[in-house]
Amino acid sequence: FEKGTGDAVHSVLFQVPTKKGKGILVTSTYHGNLMLGPNSEEVENREDTSTDEMTLEYIIDTARKSLPGFDLKKRLKTYSGIRSKPDTGDFIIKEEYKGFINVAGIESPGLTASPAIAETVLNIVKRRIDLKQNKDFNPLRKAIIKPNSFDAAEVKRRIDLAPCDERIVCRCEKVTEGEVRDALTRNIDIRTRKAVKFRTRAGMGLCQGKFCGPRVDELIQRIKHFEAI
Ligand SMILES: Cc1cc2nc3c(=O)[nH]c(=O)nc-3n(C[C@H](O)[C@H](O)[C@H](O)COP(=O)(O)OP(=O)(O)OC[C@H]3O[C@@H](n4cnc5c(N)ncnc54)[C@H](O)[C@@H]3O)c2cc1C
Repeated sequence: FEKGTGDAVHSVLFQVPTKKGKGILVTSTYHGNLMLGPNSEEVENREDTSTDEMTLEYIIDTARKSLPGFDLKKRLKTYSGIRSKPDTGDFIIKEEYKGFINVAGIESPGLTASPAIAETVLNIVKRRIDLKQNKDFNPLRKAIIKPNSFDAAEVKRRIDLAPCDERIVCRCEKVTEGEVRDALTRNIDIRTRKAVKFRTRAGMGLCQGKFCGPRVDELIQRIKHFEAI
């Protein structure tokens, strides 16, 4: 949903869980976009990401039990995807062939389990390689710049600025050049328009990147010194 729609939600709102999972939730992104869903259905074909009206209605109706008043006209995108579902009943983490470690079927709660998954993989690697600790490694990431809440006049002023950190690059999500620069210069390197989108939301708004896409490409070129992909 559009920016600002998530302001009414201050935590993740769940309905009662079912056997299939935690069910339809209502929440806000860090940047104030309302999010609803997901449902989950078993499919035979691993390419099958089809959707249907009945399921969408079910998601909307269930979400309305948690947050009755959301405005569907402010909806930006609906998504469907395939989730991993191992038939082993557990994550698959093992050295399948010498030097090839499979980390597969990482279904929910794979995100929460990721530090433990990393340790398991580390222990496998240690059996083959004598690892030395990098004393200069910094495990901390600097805080992300706060999202902006400019009014329409301020957005207009910032769009018209010459290139500088204050200038708005993405009109819909009100992302500034400074935020894109920050996203491009963090310790985990990124180089693509899509990666900038994931870090800043530039391109995730109403126009879906038609306005900001070329501007983000230009910044990638200017800051990273190569063509955007
Ligand atoms: C709706 C939903 C809600 C969830 N909620 C939770 C939760 O609350 N808590 C929790 O702990 N977990 C949750 N999970 C599960 C969690 O998201 C996964 O367990 C986790 O993301 C798995 O991590 P991964 O790195 O194995 O795979 P992914 O995160 O899926 O990463 C795989 C990456 O590989 C890329 N890729 C795929 N194919 C190729 C290719 N051919 N070439 C190059 N790149 C490729 C994909 O684009 C993707 O970026 C949820 C999952 C879903 C779908």
